[in-house]
Amino acid sequence: MSDLLLATANRGKQREFGRLLAGIPGRLVFPQQIGVELDVPEPHGTYAENAAAKADAYCRASGLLTLADDSGIEVAALAWGPGVLTARFGGADVPDRVALLLNAVGDSAERAARMVCVLALATPPPAAGQPPLIETFAGAMEGSLAAEPRGSGGFGYDPVFLLPSGLTTAELPEPEKDRISHRGRAVAAAMPRLRELLAGR
Ligand code: IMP
Repeated sequence: MSDLLLATANRGKQREFGRLLAGIPGRLVFPQQIGVELDVPEPHGTYAENAAAKADAYCRASGLLTLADDSGIEVAALAWGPGVLTARFGGADVPDRVALLLNAVGDSAERAARMVCVLALATPPPAAGQPPLIETFAGAMEGSLAAEPRGSGGFGYDPVFLLPSGLTTAELPEPEKDRISHRGRAVAAAMPRLRELLAGR
């Protein structure tokens, strides 16, 4: 059976990908299962470049077909930031990034927000010495920033990401978040190519 490596140590992302990729014609493996755990810098200005850097590094280290995710939240009041810098918002050792984001936005009325996900799929090269082939797929989810956290599902900023329905993404049943989320949409865009590559292995 063919393996697909998910290039992330983020357990929230791992759980979601476990569900989103349950139907692939292959086995989804995580870095901790194969002992390839890398700390890949994310210095780039776009989600696509950061996702590509992660997919490339894990693909080279493992020799496996590799999928990486770079994602973030964008808020109108913060000039559509923190965006690609979301994971590092406020510096390295912030105990509560959600509270930090709420404080940064304060009582601004500009609460429109979106979550963005770009996936990079790295295919091992046919011959040694060549770079992996990288393809990218994107998805977004529109909403707004809640006044305070609500809900216990999901991870990261889900308790403050308010949907037009009035629920936060942390209040959604998992299949519903998967259906409408930035990550769910990016996976849907990547799925035909994933199936093609995994079925051909
Ligand atoms: P990175 O993709 O590892 O650079 O980090 C993504 C950042 O966005 C992390 O701080 C996550 O907590 C946050 N994030 C990404 N996707 C989601 C999501 O689906 N819900 C809530 N927060 C998310």
